[in-house]
Amino acid sequence: MSKPRPLIAGNWKMNGRRADGLALAKGIAAGAGGLKAELLLCPPATLIALVGEVVKGSSVELGGQDCHFAPSGAHTGDIGAPMLADLGCRYVIVGHSERRAEHEESDGLVKAKAGAALAAGLVPIVCLGESEAERDRGEALAVVARQLAGSLPDSAAGSTVVVAYEPIWAIGTGRTASTADIGAVHGHLRSELAKRFADAASFRLLYGGSVKPSNCPDILALGNVDGALVGGASLKAEDFLAIARACS
Ligand code: PEP
Repeated sequence: MSKPRPLIAGNWKMNGRRADGLALAKGIAAGAGGLKAELLLCPPATLIALVGEVVKGSSVELGGQDCHFAPSGAHTGDIGAPMLADLGCRYVIVGHSERRAEHEESDGLVKAKAGAALAAGLVPIVCLGESEAERDRGEALAVVARQLAGSLPDSAAGSTVVVAYEPIWAIGTGRTASTADIGAVHGHLRSELAKRFADAASFRLLYGGSVKPSNCPDILALGNVDGALVGGASLKAEDFLAIARACS
């Protein structure tokens, strides 16, 4: 079976005012034509509508950084997946380690959010990854397998769900997992998926953690890596596009 189309997703996190978002989205949309990879921008909620206007008609997709597990209701400060879909989003990140840590999100909650995304017609990007202490104890493979089992709804399929492996110690630190370690984790995730899903080969498995133009060619060339979730480097149009161009 051929590899799925790579996805390069930019997670802008809590960065940018309207002028920044406008300039960044315009710069990325201008260079997005003719790429093998699918490009995705996940701006903060305040900028989704604005960025949506810029990327409309381009090949760049739009996504949210989180959603609530309920479609609507009395959840002050939260955003329902149908609201993201209404803004033109096709994707939503769920279970990012910053949300797991700062908002105490459990695997069960992440699974409910992923289910809500699917119900709204969005593709959830389900994030998981071990801490440095867990890696040092030799538990990385067991941790990601447990997170995968607990965070993915039974209704998931390769065409509707993306999984992102992001070792916590590599996010925003400038440290990147070695290609051997990424290969081992992604291989393990693929075989864990195969225990549950007949179409395991078609799930896109992204790597995230200090991906930048200089390290992405080696990472993106790995057999079980189908793209990248990019934080810091997605805030510079040239860097983000350079990462996308490294997909072949
Ligand atoms: C992320 O936030 O998902 C991420 C991978 O960030 P960075 O690329 O900055 O490490």
